[in-house]
Order: sequence, then structure tokens, then C-alpha cells
Amino acid sequence: MESKSLATARRMRALEPSATLAMAARASAMTASGIDVIDLSVGEPDFPTPAHICRAAEEAIRAGKTKYTPAAGIPQLKKAVADDYSRRTGLAITPAQVVVSNGAKHSLHNVFTAVLDEGDEVIVPTPYWVSYAELIKLAGAKPVLLETRIEDDFKLHADALRAAVTPKTRMLLLCSPSNPTGVVYTAAELGALADVAIERDLAVVADEIYDQLVFDGRPSVSFPTLRPGLADRTVVVAGVSKTYSMTGWRIGWTIAPEPLSKAIGNLQSQETSNPCSVSQHAAVAALTGPQECVAEMLRAFEKRRDLVAGRLKAMSGVRIPEIGGAFYAFFDIREPLKRMAGKGIATSMQWSETLLEKHHVALVAGSAFGAEGFVRMSFAASEEKLSAGLDRIAAFLDAG
Ligand code: PMP
Ligand code: GLU
Repeated sequence: MESKSLATARRMRALEPSATLAMAARASAMTASGIDVIDLSVGEPDFPTPAHICRAAEEAIRAGKTKYTPAAGIPQLKKAVADDYSRRTGLAITPAQVVVSNGAKHSLHNVFTAVLDEGDEVIVPTPYWVSYAELIKLAGAKPVLLETRIEDDFKLHADALRAAVTPKTRMLLLCSPSNPTGVVYTAAELGALADVAIERDLAVVADEIYDQLVFDGRPSVSFPTLRPGLADRTVVVAGVSKTYSMTGWRIGWTIAPEPLSKAIGNLQSQETSNPCSVSQHAAVAALTGPQECVAEMLRAFEKRRDLVAGRLKAMSGVRIPEIGGAFYAFFDIREPLKRMAGKGIATSMQWSETLLEKHHVALVAGSAFGAEGFVRMSFAASEEKLSAGLDRIAAFLDAG
């Protein structure tokens, strides 16, 4: 008889793998087999990590900074994060409020584990980034998906939030600039949500990993700055992955009130110990070194946004919201899907699988983000690649 000794735990049975990473893996397997795939699936800047940051890592290795560090991060990095955030927002943050983790994904996991109890509800506006719902479930809590519409630029309105709050609601999750929609909330819109959070005593997790990727010269707004006292109920999550093109270095962080930061640090001390020592030194160089690289990458992303938004808008039946930041175009294919239904392409998953198989462009189906009828394109790729990818998408749509 087959042993059930290693059957997975109940919590694993409901766990979906990351759809974005799965699609990227599929695209690279096709590329490895010799197919010319244009991979616009994963959200990863295509620029090399700036040279001065790499040099700092090399120096750290040479200086023997290759041992355990304090679990919550080296003091220099916690200070660099606190100083950088305080300077940009005007809030006085101390290093003790910062916990450095193995990427912002890990930071999110830490927050949910440290704050949520079994049965707590977390309001997650859809479309939402793939990992939120799964990480909330792993913590034993319940993601409550709250739909937003393209007609409202995928923004959650205060009234809809208020109506969705139940006695079990513990937390609101916000992501602006948004993955997957690229939409950026205004200060007034976030302020209205903040009022509801205060009125209903909600914790807020503000995923601000794209905070430096805001287009058209608009200011970046950090959630806790919007109302007095908001910082006492908010955890800001951010990191170096997107801003400095450092996805592989795995450095993210939380900024939270001190008692919670202490709890998160304790959790991490048992869970993973410190994030990579060399990466932490590289992150110090990223935050304290020259910032021209950030402005340069922002300009490149803005140009790509113009290219992608312009081309997509011109495609028959395709709609996109106003892309104010990050590097994603989340477009509406409900019209094209109606035309293609006769060919057995009725869902965003079938649409993106056919696009990959027949036209060799990898995107991610909207269903992975809780929004059927849409697809996400990452424009963290060269203009040349984007143009070629858009040509193929247009050919697919025309054939439908
Ligand atoms: N939040 C959002 C919205 C993201 O798009 C990502 C990208 N992976 C993350 C968090 C996690 O980033 P990382 O773990 O690479 O720091
Ligand atoms: N955030 C990126 C994305 O959404 C990276 C992939 C991931 O971490 O899931 O594509």
C-alpha cells in the first residue's frame, strides 16, 4: 500500500503556484528548445544592476562580509532605508521600524503571518498581484476579493470599501502604482480610503514596491503620509528589486510601528535568519549611492509605456486603463474573446496559451490576477522586443 506519510498539509492543497513565475518558466523552456519567444510575462526590469551596486557587493565579499548578520538586517541598511524613506516622505522613521527580508514577497509573508489570526479577513481589491491571496491564505486568514472596474481605472472607491467591511475585516491591502494594472492612485483617492481605514479600525498594508516608478512627473504618494496617525496602522512594503533592477538579489523590507517590527524580526530569526549579507551591502550602495540610474530607468519605462499604450489602444476592441506607473499594461480582451469563442478561445487563459503557442508571445492571463477577460503585458523589455511582441499580438487579434 502506498504510504500517505508525506501527503501534503491541508494548507498546501489550496496553494496555487505563482502564475507569473510559471509563465516565465514556460517561456524560457520554449526559448531553450529553440523557439523565438518574446517573453513579456514576468515583471522584471531588463536593465543590468547598476555597476556601482555590483562593485559594493564585490567589495563586501572581499572584506569578508559573508557571515550571519542580525536577522532583521544590518544596521547600515536599516538606517539607509529609514533615511531614504524619511527624506522622500517627510515622516520621521527610525531604523528600528525597518525589517529587511529576502525580497518584498517575503516581507509580505512576514506581515501576514505576524498580524493575521485564523479567520481574519483581508480586503484585496482586484485585479491583484498573484501572491497576495495565496500568502494571506497561508497565514490562515481569508482574502476578500473586491472587484474594481476598468471604467473606474481599476481604483477602489471609499464607499465600496466601507460596504465590504465586516466585523471580521482586519486589514486592507493596497498596491499603488499597481501590479498588474499600472494604475496610480491620487493622494485624494488614497486619503478617502485612509478615512475608512481609520473609521473602521483597519490595518493597512501598502505595497509600494513601485513607488519610484511613477510617470509624467507626478509625485509618488506614500500611504501613511496622508492622515495624522496613519503610520500607526500601516505597514509599508518596498524593496530594491524594481527600483534598482535587483530582482535576483532578494532584498525587500517592511516599515512598521516598532512593536510589530520587533515581532516580524523575531519571526524572521526563526524562519530564515538574515537575508543574504552581500546583497544587503549592495542594497546600502543602491540607497545611498548616485540615483541617476533610477531616473534613467524611469525615462526608459515611460517611453515604453507610451509605445505600448499607443499600440494597444489602436487595436480593435482592446481597452486599457491610464498607466501611471510600474511597468504593466493590463488590457481588456473581452471584445476579442467574444469574436474568438467559436474557435474554442473563451477565457483569458486560453487566449494567452494560444498566443504563446501560435505566436510565441508570453503574457499572463488576467484570471491569475482575479480579473477574467484581461491579460497582463510587462513592458520591462526593450522597445524592439515590445514592438515585435505587439506586432504578433495584433496579428493574433486580426486573425480572430
Ligand atoms: N509586490 C509587488 C506588487 C510585486 O510586483 C512584486 C514583484 N515580484 C513584489 C511585491 C515582490 O518583489 P520582490 O520579492 O522581488 O522584492
Ligand atoms: N512581481 C513580478 C511579476 O508580477 C515578479 C514575479 C513574481 O514575483 O511573482 O511578474
